[in-house]
Amino acid sequence: MAQQVFDQDGEQQVDDEFIDDVTDADARETAYRERGTSRPITVVGNPVLHKECKDVTEFDDELAKLIDDMFASQRTAEGVGLAANQIGVDLKVFVYDCMDDQGVRHVGVVCNPVLDELPAERRVLDDSNEGCLSVPGAYAELARPDYAVVRGQDAQGNPIAVQGTGYFARCLQHETDHLYGYLYIDRLSKRDRKDVLKQMAEREPRYPVVAND
Ligand SMILES: [Zn+2]
Repeated sequence: MAQQVFDQDGEQQVDDEFIDDVTDADARETAYRERGTSRPITVVGNPVLHKECKDVTEFDDELAKLIDDMFASQRTAEGVGLAANQIGVDLKVFVYDCMDDQGVRHVGVVCNPVLDELPAERRVLDDSNEGCLSVPGAYAELARPDYAVVRGQDAQGNPIAVQGTGYFARCLQHETDHLYGYLYIDRLSKRDRKDVLKQMAEREPRYPVVAND
């Protein structure tokens, strides 16, 4: 599948390297979440969020069911991305439903994601606000590259590559981090991290969460 991209003159080009995660985004997201069951979200301190997840090796019905549940949970929590360990499952898979810097909606799934190293000329940092469903009610500015490419597999095990700009680039990096055991707060200064945890403690989550022991 090819993704529509535009060159500097606004001419449409076709780039076969990246999957089309734009076409029928609304219908695809609806189908996933209507098959799925929403599950509560794990929060900072739950061990499943703080270690590397296991690789996906079976691309079967059970994985498809997990992905449906992840889309349902993402919708309930009003998230733009969700990693499997955020619903307590120790597997390298994330889903997303996120706008890029052009306001285009991307919906998809990546198993076993690995981020491309960006060449220096593509590394432009953006310091927008970031939040996480597993750190409910809190936000902090975090500098990240404004462009990302992630490679992995789809739900059937086929190799895929996804590219993101703007907030979607941030999402791809954030979700990949989750599956290696890192939260965005692990990338903050000690002071900012403390502030975020204070914000979290002061607010009630707007969606069901798994209580920590
Ligand atoms: Zn998160």
